[in-house]
Amino acid sequence: MEPLRSLILAAAGNDVVRRLVSRAPGTRRIVDRFVAGEDVDAALAAVRLLAADGRYATLDYLGEDIVERADAEHTVKAYLRLLDALGAQGLTDRAEVSVKLSALGLRIDERLALDCAGQICEAAERHGTTVTIDMEDHTTTDVTLRLVADLRRRWPSVGAVLQSYLHRTEADAARLAAEGSRVRLCKGAYAEPPEVAYQHGHDVDLSYVRCANRLLAGSGYPMFATHDPRLVAVLRERTRWYGREQGGYEYQMLYGVRPDEQRRLAAEGETVRVYVPFGEQWYGYLMRRLAERPANVAFFLRALASR
Ligand code: FAD
Repeated sequence: MEPLRSLILAAAGNDVVRRLVSRAPGTRRIVDRFVAGEDVDAALAAVRLLAADGRYATLDYLGEDIVERADAEHTVKAYLRLLDALGAQGLTDRAEVSVKLSALGLRIDERLALDCAGQICEAAERHGTTVTIDMEDHTTTDVTLRLVADLRRRWPSVGAVLQSYLHRTEADAARLAAEGSRVRLCKGAYAEPPEVAYQHGHDVDLSYVRCANRLLAGSGYPMFATHDPRLVAVLRERTRWYGREQGGYEYQMLYGVRPDEQRRLAAEGETVRVYVPFGEQWYGYLMRRLAERPANVAFFLRALASR
């Protein structure tokens, strides 16, 4: 892993850093770039804006690593409110939801996380949309894939996420590339040790292409989550090589990252879905976005210094 990236991710876990960042006067501006807002109305406004130029959304209610059962219930309620609002406003054909199992109590009790995720899947199905279960650090990969498989038995449209930086992922991609499966492929956003993950960007990219080939060779619906222009060019060639029609796969990017490229791909007929986080618990999400790009850190430091 690149030193700056691992340094930022390591510092992110420190309480002093958390307090400094959370209270710094310039932080709000950075948060606003990557986070749609704090409430459901802000999330829906983002969905409408994206829909106006043909983009889709996957909405993430921010929060992770909760340790109290009450917080898991709070997360479920927030998703149920969101899904009701999407349904009431006729936006379920434009937006699905992304959910982190650690926000549903995975670290407290696996059963709790499964029950909570089930309630969200149930509501999504009732409103005619889908759920994708985000992937977190490598200590949770097995349990997350196992719970996704459990959920898929009742709600077959539930999407999984794979991270190309993990050595194991090509095999996971081959296994998951089956009829009816939805699989988001990303590079991976956590600080992972060399025993389990590639440490150099080039190896992560090569793995990404191998995993994409596995997904495209199968009969599922691949969701390519990357902003990397070289990978997008390779993916466009690979999708054609495998005879995939537009609409038989999609591109995904993050809210606030390369919006022009998102619009360009959508204008060319590609399905483009934007990951839209909202809510008050933005800290962990923001720190991963900063770690992804050194230029963001410079932008961040300038904003922290200004008032
Ligand atoms: P990079 O090599 O990191 O970036 C390529 C180029 O994209 C950069 O040069 C820059 O121009 C631009 N770029 C990338 N990131 C940023 C940024 N933060 N700010 C500004 N420009 C940027 N990770 C997980 O571990 N689990 C998940 O469930 C997960 N879900 C995701 C869902 C979506 C829709 C997306 C797009 C990403 C998700 N990620 C997830 C994050 C992912 O793993 C990467 O950390 C992130 O996408 C950066 O990788 P990249 O492929 O864009 O390539």
